Amino acid sequence: MTAVIDKKKCNGCGLCALYCPLDVIYMEDGIGHVVYPDECWHCGACRQECAKGAVRFEFGAMMLAV
Ligand code: SF4
Ligand code: SF4
Repeated sequence: MTAVIDKKKCNGCGLCALYCPLDVIYMEDGIGHVVYPDECWHCGACRQECAKGAVRFEFGAMMLAV
């Protein structure tokens, strides 16, 4: 499972990147990007801080195959 950012909802506030304890998210071109999805702890901080509801969690293909 990893955090995924909906680029259509993201307003580029940067809070998800600020609060991510593992620097999984970086800001570029005015929106957040999950650049290290394998490092995500699923702590939920990014989703909790996002006022736009742009962060969701998705299951990876490996987890669905189990
Ligand atoms: S907290 Fe939400 S709106 Fe702000 S940069 Fe992150 S995904 Fe975009
Ligand atoms: S769930 Fe936690 S570790 Fe994963 S991207 Fe969001 S803030 Fe970072």
